[in-house]
Amino acid sequence: MKPLEQLVRPNIWSLAPYSSARDEYSGKEAHVFLDANENPYNDPYNRYPDPLQRELKAKLEKVKGVPTENIFLGNGSDEAIDLAYRIFCEPGRDNVVSIAPTYGMYQVCADINNVEFRKVLLDDNYQMEAGKLLAACDEHTKVIWLCSPNNPTGNSLNRNEILKVIEHFEGIVVVDEAYIDFAQQLSLRQELPTHPNLIILQTLSKAWGSAAIRLGMAFASKDIINIYNKVKYPYNVNLLTQQQAMKAISDPYEVDKWVKTLLQERGRLMLAFSELPICEQIYPTDANFFLARMNDAQKTYDYLVEQGIIVRNRSRVQLCHNCLRITIGTRTENNELLAALRQF
Ligand SMILES: *Cc1c(COP(=O)(O)O)cnc(C)c1O
Repeated sequence: MKPLEQLVRPNIWSLAPYSSARDEYSGKEAHVFLDANENPYNDPYNRYPDPLQRELKAKLEKVKGVPTENIFLGNGSDEAIDLAYRIFCEPGRDNVVSIAPTYGMYQVCADINNVEFRKVLLDDNYQMEAGKLLAACDEHTKVIWLCSPNNPTGNSLNRNEILKVIEHFEGIVVVDEAYIDFAQQLSLRQELPTHPNLIILQTLSKAWGSAAIRLGMAFASKDIINIYNKVKYPYNVNLLTQQQAMKAISDPYEVDKWVKTLLQERGRLMLAFSELPICEQIYPTDANFFLARMNDAQKTYDYLVEQGIIVRNRSRVQLCHNCLRITIGTRTENNELLAALRQF
């Protein structure tokens, strides 16, 4: 890996961050707070929330086994994605390399930040080859984007190929593990201490059932996390979200139950799809959705919309011609989908 100073934009490296009242005094002993121009009434919503979300991170350290100093929390993973561009990529000069197809936000954030987005197509099994990604890089490539399990294909990327990319690339490698709680494949979290160029993204939006509260996590070296903290909005995770997130992660057994049920339902739904005459192929998945190649995805999609059932039409995505992406719902919802398709 290149020294971090060479990867971070010079203006960010030398940035003197905003210092909020809560940064300057964060102790608990005081009982009169007249430092932040807050209204003394309307407790507890009158007070600015903890800018570094210490209580929540302490709980996440226990659940995830990642030390608090290696955790960044944001307004969804989307914030962590956007900040990666703002931290590492000089607009109009630097570029990033990504697998394709994959999650659309990596490209949208590249476009917003005026950063060239280079795509390397996956193979017919939706797998990547480390050599091909590395060959697409040049001296201005700052970040490589990987997503495993990948969206919209559903499969986990080959772990050895991911590790090859991390070990051979001189810049930052982001591995988005939004669906890791559904996967057979293990998280790369344990690789963090030995791979200082690795950023892992996770979220409460999927297995943890909390998309509404917007809480995304980035796990990385202490040095990278410190830069994230310098660049983010001072109070980027509001009090309600911090409180609700603590509630959500206090019951991992509930999440395990959801995951088990969804995986069972996924098996049942995929089997049923494989027997539908209008379905040509289903693809292996490690997530709470699967990709199905239909004989006419658009027609099937339109028909389902008429029935009040919405799936994701991915037919216009590279390598996903005629594919629908099906999220696993409750047993009742899945049955409704199957009943509709059998009548189509
Ligand atoms: C759903 C999803 C996310 C979640 O983003 P949030 O902003 O945390 O809700 C992240 N990455 C991928 C690949 C996803 O599919």
